[in-house]
Amino acid sequence: MQGISENIVVGSHVWVGDPELVWIDGQVLSINGEEAEIQTSNEKKVVSHLSKLHPKDVDVPTGGVDDMTKLAYLHEPGVLHNLETRYMMNEIYTYTGNILIAINPFQNLSHLYDTDMMQRYKGTRIADLSPHVFAIGEAAYREMITEEKSNSILVSGESGAGKTETTKMLMQYLAYLGGNAASEGRTVEQQVLESNPVLEAFGNAKTVRNDNSSRFGKFVEIQFDKRGRISGAAIRTYLLEKSRVCQVSDPERNYHFFYLLCASPPEEKEKYKLGDPRSFHYLNQSSCYDLVGVNAAQEYLNTKRAMDIVGISQEEQDAIFRVVAGILHLGNIKFAKSEDTDSSVLEDEESKFHLQITADLLMCDPIALEGALLERVMVTPEEIIKRSLDPLGSAVSRDGLAKTLYARLFDWLVHKINNSIGQDVNSKCLIGILDIYGFESFQTNSFEQFCINFTNEKLQQHFNQHVFKMEQEEYTKEGIEWSYLEFVDNQDVLDLIEKKPGGIIALLDEACMFPKSTHETFAQKLYQTFKDHKRFMKPKLARSDFTVVHYAGEVQYQSEQFLDKNKDYVVPEHQEMLSASRCSFVSGLFPPLSEETAKSAKFSSIGSRFKLQLQQLMDTLNLTEPHYIRCVKPNSLLKPCLFENSNVIQQLRSGGVLEAVRIKCAGFPTHWTFHDFLTRLRVLAPEVTRGNFDEKDSCKKILEKMGMTSYQIGETKIFLRAGQMAELDARRALL
Ligand code: ATP
Ligand code: MG
Repeated sequence: MQGISENIVVGSHVWVGDPELVWIDGQVLSINGEEAEIQTSNEKKVVSHLSKLHPKDVDVPTGGVDDMTKLAYLHEPGVLHNLETRYMMNEIYTYTGNILIAINPFQNLSHLYDTDMMQRYKGTRIADLSPHVFAIGEAAYREMITEEKSNSILVSGESGAGKTETTKMLMQYLAYLGGNAASEGRTVEQQVLESNPVLEAFGNAKTVRNDNSSRFGKFVEIQFDKRGRISGAAIRTYLLEKSRVCQVSDPERNYHFFYLLCASPPEEKEKYKLGDPRSFHYLNQSSCYDLVGVNAAQEYLNTKRAMDIVGISQEEQDAIFRVVAGILHLGNIKFAKSEDTDSSVLEDEESKFHLQITADLLMCDPIALEGALLERVMVTPEEIIKRSLDPLGSAVSRDGLAKTLYARLFDWLVHKINNSIGQDVNSKCLIGILDIYGFESFQTNSFEQFCINFTNEKLQQHFNQHVFKMEQEEYTKEGIEWSYLEFVDNQDVLDLIEKKPGGIIALLDEACMFPKSTHETFAQKLYQTFKDHKRFMKPKLARSDFTVVHYAGEVQYQSEQFLDKNKDYVVPEHQEMLSASRCSFVSGLFPPLSEETAKSAKFSSIGSRFKLQLQQLMDTLNLTEPHYIRCVKPNSLLKPCLFENSNVIQQLRSGGVLEAVRIKCAGFPTHWTFHDFLTRLRVLAPEVTRGNFDEKDSCKKILEKMGMTSYQIGETKIFLRAGQMAELDARRALL
């Protein structure tokens, strides 16, 4: 990035680092050797090394610029200030070249998304209207139609940044463009849109970061026919957070639908033996039951309506509701130590009551259910023995059953929606929309964060390659040389994680297959193997933690749960009991295992399967023309009109926006049309530009007169190296 100290003189307007605001603007009062004294705009005097200062462009229009590449100086404080200026005027969208940055307004800006607005964006070129999510939808759609090429829109950002809302607006816009306005009833586009509330009811939950947080990743592929009409769709989901089903911490909630079903009309509540959510262990671990501004009873009806539209029959809905209610009752079964042995028994009459209801709802044998919770069958070469579990073991078994049931139910929903919308196998063009969790770095980071950050490394690589390619294309189009352009790839982190054999996932699988492994032996193995790896670190004093140096920063992972969480394992007794259910829906969730799979005790690895899914996603994306939307959460209070610099900077870093800026800076970050260049800098050489109507030539003359080298002159634009614009401005300031 630019930090060209020789262009900073007494009187220069600059950005200087600030512990609180990250960057603050000010003016240089004096320079002493390499040190400058600066009067900041918040009335402080600070001293800073010249190389740490960034020049401030005083000519930026008051409302900021709608594309960062129009900034004279492309650097971190410039980018940040521009976003803030616009955000404060409710301009939540800004481009950085082809990337759309969307800052969550945390207030309803419905006028931005109404039909009038859709109409305005329809058929317009991206540069002709202000930045908008519809403009990206429009660009993807037009490109698909004119070039007969699939497109994709990748929406990313941290939790609560607005990915899902953005995705829904994109889908709405595409349905507007490619819908069949004349037809009535259940159209494909309507089904596509209504899949959202269904998946949100079952896959979203309130977390500390977002009241409606998606606990799964999603890729929606919308297929179009030759005339550009929506003709089919496919939804792929990734890594639903299963632990939430039986473990919720205050002030978060379990998945929305549990509460919605508890708020269903009396006859349904009666049918599913439900009542106050406070009476269920899986819900009352947290004291949060309601969502601000959401009427659960109404939302229940809305979800049911959406289920109707996506083609889930009444019978299926009944079965789904029984499974959901069954999970709640299952969670209320408690265990105690039996009087004479260590083995567990149902704690009390109430537990027996809930066991009976669970069995009724799932239509399975209550005795088999009890057995599946209290005992475990051990198969040894000699014999088959039944071993009793202790109370803790039974509780783990119960929770495992609840998680498996819920995960299978969720997969069923996705599968059903896909089947019912239908795939257009003849479609050659599609638009894929990705709504997937952003980079995460918390106090404690486990296997989930590891997978999420792995995803982000993959996407980051894709993104870098794309930005790099676009830069090069622009240079080629303008006929300038660009062979020097280099950028640092993150392939080394990806190798560390996914290389086969020898990467972290492969080593984890090995550990899972070896019965004596513990998280400690796993961590030791990592320390040994990656001793000299640049992207791997053993934290000081750590016994089983490890740190990965991700592109977005270092993350320290706690390996304790890695082995358990990597094992996708359904207890055979659970499997057997549910596949014998008298309800075909429930037994259908647990198809009998083939003889072979049942015998081979080989475990199935979540990490490896996820890696494969991710590779398939990347393969799909690589066939498409990508568009990027980076959602940004301006503050952690979820409040409108509050812009926290350090928060935003961190997101721009992990969202790759600053990386894109860095790639641009490695080449020619400033691309200005001859005209704009002259408007700003004509004063530097009025004698050569006066009466010269050849703009290109005038530009060249100015640059020559200023003794500049290594810039390039393209067909329509001037390409300047990092710092050159600052140098020209400094000269201008001296006039
Ligand atoms: P997660 O990763 O947790 O799923 P997310 O990035 O999908 O988070 P959203 O659920 O899309 O985040 O947005 C969080 C909330 O922010 C929304 O419920 C809504 O209140 C608000 N919000 C997001 N985008 C907009 C917008 N464009 N206009 C108004 N409000 C918005
Ligand atoms: Mg979301």
